[in-house]
Amino acid sequence: MIVVDDIHKHFGGFHAVDGATLRIEQGSITGLIGPNGAGKTTLFNVIAGVLKPTSGRVTMAGEDITGLPPHDLFHKGLLRTFQIAHEFSSMTCRENLMMVPGDQAGETLWNTWFGRRRIADQERALRAKADEVLEFLTVEHLADHKAGQISGGQKKLLELGRTMMVDARIVFLDEVGAGVNRTLLNTIGDAIIRLNEERGYTFVVIEHDMDFIGRLCDPVICMAEGKVLAEGTLDEIKANEQVIEAYLGT
Ligand code: ADP
Repeated sequence: MIVVDDIHKHFGGFHAVDGATLRIEQGSITGLIGPNGAGKTTLFNVIAGVLKPTSGRVTMAGEDITGLPPHDLFHKGLLRTFQIAHEFSSMTCRENLMMVPGDQAGETLWNTWFGRRRIADQERALRAKADEVLEFLTVEHLADHKAGQISGGQKKLLELGRTMMVDARIVFLDEVGAGVNRTLLNTIGDAIIRLNEERGYTFVVIEHDMDFIGRLCDPVICMAEGKVLAEGTLDEIKANEQVIEAYLGT
């Protein structure tokens, strides 16, 4: 589905990503692991259009998407989750989901033409969709809670929920488990597996929690010093000598 071909990303003289090549198969939950500073987040940001690569190519289903901005990738169904922005913290969880943009400029024009009734219909549909998403994530009880008042793990679920408001095909999750308790981490894991199995989402997951990676991800790709070191099941990766050395070296 995604082919990353010899991506380099330099910050000044520093090579954060230094010739990374990998493939993400459609329908997979691919794990991306590696010691701190390996270049995982930078590579994510290059694929998701947040950073332009210094060189190299990214294709999606054969189409060159290198350097496309995030909103173009969004329309192709490629999404990267982001932390709930501060401005949204005083809105409820349901409203946060309802805010996920479609083609906003087009919609506004459309709304003025078709008037208020149309807006009310649209709002009802969005609200129903948001409630369906909250129920899927088993957090329907949070619908009217302010996003700023829910726990860190619940925020992670809400971030995942935002990808469900649009027709996502491939979702990039950066450290979804950071600071999240085990119970909620399992809920997040369950939601990812169900989205993968029932809705055909492909996932790429950066995560340090190896239990989480082991439960969800196949294959697992290990990066170090800006390059891909190894790919395989988590057990294969753990037994790989180069991987062991890379982790010991940090
Ligand atoms: P990982 O996600 O594997 O921990 P990162 O992609 O965050 O690694 O970082 C890789 C390296 O690139 C790190 O040494 C980091 O300090 C450096 N780096 C990341 N972003 C920038 C930036 N904007 N400017 C300079 N160096 C950066």
